[in-house]
Parts: sequence; structure tokens; C-alpha cells
Amino acid sequence: MHRVSIVRGGRAPSPASVESMVRDSIELLGGIKDFIKPGDTVALKPNVVTGRLSGRGVTTDPEVLKALIRLSYEGGAGKVFVVEGSGYGSPTMEALELSGVKDAAEACGARVVDVDSDDLVEVKVPNPLILDKIPVSKTFLESDVKINVPVMKTHDQMLMTLGMKNMKGIIPKPQKRLFHRIGLAKAIVDLNKAVPLDLTVVDAIYAMEGLGPSFGDIVEMSLILASRDVYSLDVIGSKVMGFDPEEVEYLKLASEQGLVKLDGSDIEVVGEPVERVARVFKKPPMDLAPQEGVRIIEKGACSACRGTIRSVFYDLEQIGLMKDIRDLTIIVGPQAGLPKDLDKTPLIMGTCLKHLENKGCYVIGCPPNNDQMIKAIRELCGKS
Ligand code: SF4
Repeated sequence: MHRVSIVRGGRAPSPASVESMVRDSIELLGGIKDFIKPGDTVALKPNVVTGRLSGRGVTTDPEVLKALIRLSYEGGAGKVFVVEGSGYGSPTMEALELSGVKDAAEACGARVVDVDSDDLVEVKVPNPLILDKIPVSKTFLESDVKINVPVMKTHDQMLMTLGMKNMKGIIPKPQKRLFHRIGLAKAIVDLNKAVPLDLTVVDAIYAMEGLGPSFGDIVEMSLILASRDVYSLDVIGSKVMGFDPEEVEYLKLASEQGLVKLDGSDIEVVGEPVERVARVFKKPPMDLAPQEGVRIIEKGACSACRGTIRSVFYDLEQIGLMKDIRDLTIIVGPQAGLPKDLDKTPLIMGTCLKHLENKGCYVIGCPPNNDQMIKAIRELCGKS
């Protein structure tokens, strides 16, 4: 049986309550000394997707990390690293600073490591679905104890992000782009097989529903979940979010590979029962167009470009330009073509549509960056 612990705290838990929730979640799995031997090097992998939107329910709560660093040293750790590579368009060190993770880590005696400037090691994927080898952070790979510390969030491409998906932060940015191009779900399963974890501790004190992983609504769950087995943890986590694990593509793939049973028949939940803590999370909208007057012609687009479109509209909303956007057509995805009824110049997006660059306002990049996209939209809508 794989054990998953669930600990619930009170509303708006204080730093001391967060620490005791983290401690209790690990105690329910046997205690920190079951994971760490004296002198071990411990690597913690938080979720710091972007600094710009850091905060509750978006990035790992620094208090959760502080608790884990203290616990690691109490367990006898010789060194503790906090290892992260943020999303594209967001320099990792800046994100670590803005999120408060760098200060929190250093205050507790851990060192932060930016995956994008760390040495890389190519690891072989056993029984691969799509990738034979994956370059990963050397610091993370070579640490004696690997602890994953994700946030509980919905995800506009994968439905949810918990333990398995959070591992994408141990690969460098170009590899992240490749994951999105070749098939994110399969690549996530391959990465998790290539780099087994010792422990996953989910920060679900504040979680995200709706348009996750960055632009959704924050919900207070006051929960910490933990497990040695990241697959079981994700199955139980999906139920806590009110989803059926069968709906989550990477969990289905993991189950087809014999890594987990989606009916939970080999999972023991300790602490709070799922039924007592579950909440039905709002699912992320799958439609990319945010309002009337915006038309998205999409075929086969990677999650990278889909995510860019969402974050561009988010940025336009923030700067008060959304109300001025009308008659905008965006063409995206390698199989997308020009519609016959086009009466205005479209925005053509991404390297895979370079063959259409003369057919509209073309923005290069794989994916293109937000600033260039916004510049093109401003031009097309007469707001430059
Ligand atoms: S430009 Fe094309 S290939 Fe590159 S991320 Fe976007 S959709 Fe994928």
C-alpha cells in the first residue's frame, strides 16, 4: 500500500501552524528520520512558476519551505538546496526573489539553485513513452534526498498540477519548450520515471481553481498532503480537488504504465479522510478567446502558445487595454490555416507558422514572448 497523509489546519494558519501541519504530515508517514540520514544532502523543489504573479496559491508558501528546511536539518541533513527553474519568460532568480522563496531559504540555511544556470545531467528514461533521455539539474539529481513541494492548482492544459507536473521545474527552459511541443502529458510521466522522488509535500494551504496555474481564483483549503509516492499523491490530490483521476491525462498514462492504480485500491489515506476535505474546484476554461471580438484559429497548438495567449490577455486586462480589443484574429498551432472569411489582418503566432509570415502580422518565437504579442495586438487594434 502507498500511504498519503492529509493534515488540515485552521483558517488562515499562522507560520507556526503551517510548520506543525508540515511536521504532522511527515510524522504520519513515519517521521523525517525515515527519509533523511545524518549528513545527507537534501533538495527541495518548490513551485515558483513566475515571480510576477507570486503569492498565495500561485507559488509555494515560503513558510512551508522553511518548515521543511528546519525539519531536514533536524533529520541530520548536511546541506539543503532549494532547486527551481521558473517558467519561460520569467528569469528564475528574479522569481525566487519576488516570491520570497530565496529569503526564506537563506534565512533557514538553505542555498537556492537556479536550474537554468546549474550543470545538467542527462538521465535515461526507463520504459519511455516519448523521450529516451532528459537533461535535469545536477544539484537535484545528485542530492541524496529529493523532496517535491508543489502547490495544488488547476492547469489550463493538464486540468491540474500537483506533484508529477511540478517536476518540470528541474529541467532547463529549452527542454520545457520541447515538452510542450512533443506532448506534455507523456513527457511528464517520462520525467517522473527518470527522477524518482523520496517525498512530495503539497502546499494546499491556499490553492487555485479556474484559470490555473497562474491566473485562477485563490481558495483557502488549509491542507498539507504528503506521500513517498508522487503518483498516489496525485490520485488522492485529484479527488481532493473534486476531479476524477481518469480525467487527468498524465495520471491515465501513468496507470497504463503500471505506476499507479487510479481506483486508489493500493492507497491508504491517513489523517483526514478525502471526503471530509474535498471541494469541487472550478475547472479551467478550455476556450482561449476571452471575449467577443476575439477569434482564435487554433489547430495543434502546444500548451506553451496557449499559455502565452492567456497570459497576454491577462496582461492586456491589467493595463486596461482589453476593452479596446475588437476584430482580432489570432492564428496559432502548426496545423492551423487561414480562414476563408478573413476580412482583417490576422496575428500569426509562432515559429511553426513561419510559412504564413507574409499573410498577416507575424510574431516569431516558440512560443513568442508577451511583449512582442502585445505590441502586435496594439498595432492591429490601432492602439500602438
Ligand atoms: S510556436 Fe508552434 S511549435 Fe512553438 S510552442 Fe507555439 S504552437 Fe508550439
